[in-house]
Amino acid sequence: MIFRQFFDSESSTYTYLVGDESSGEAALVDPVREQVERDLRVLSELGLLLTWVLETHVHADHVTAAAMLRERTGARTVFGRRGAACADRHVTSGDVIQVGSIQVLVLDTPGHTDDSVSYFLGDRVLTGDALTIRGAGRTDFQNGNPHTLYRSITEVLFALRDDTLVYPGHDYKGQTVSTIGEERRHNPRLAGKSEDEFVAIMNGLGLAPPKQIAEAVPANRACGAAPASA
Ligand code: FE
Repeated sequence: MIFRQFFDSESSTYTYLVGDESSGEAALVDPVREQVERDLRVLSELGLLLTWVLETHVHADHVTAAAMLRERTGARTVFGRRGAACADRHVTSGDVIQVGSIQVLVLDTPGHTDDSVSYFLGDRVLTGDALTIRGAGRTDFQNGNPHTLYRSITEVLFALRDDTLVYPGHDYKGQTVSTIGEERRHNPRLAGKSEDEFVAIMNGLGLAPPKQIAEAVPANRACGAAPASA
């Protein structure tokens, strides 16, 4: 498997490339509209054909490149079953997305948003903003719910093997990868915390709204397509 982690410094978003050497097929997870040329260049350099764009959720902090990538490569877009209506395919726990010979298993992990999913690749999991490194995605907009998020993390993600690599959707401190076991033991919002304690932490974060939220959420519900001019 070819696996790459890319970073958008404006929104601190990680985009992942999953490629299958044998078939030449590839998927991008959470691509950012401003980085579309970078992503297409790497795909071309590695000789990969983009067949899927996988979104972990409707983002509030950047606009997805999904629509542009679909137009330029023919790739199909995937969201969770409660995600954007523009998706070519809506997925839920147990669904498998086939990237050549690679199987990507969908896990429903709502709570940061109600449409959040994680993508499991056997030895690693792409968690979007459900579980981040030593953190967890905020739950104060887009139908976020800290109770739901606690259960998604402790019952779905922490059920994976301890050595499963955790690749999050964002990081603001330069961290790139963790493991399930490491987060279970050292994530300050979760280690030794009850559901009520987790909820109190999440409800007390007092974060400012993401600066792009007014533009990003409606744009992402349209897969990032440029708004039609009148
Ligand atoms: Fe998010």
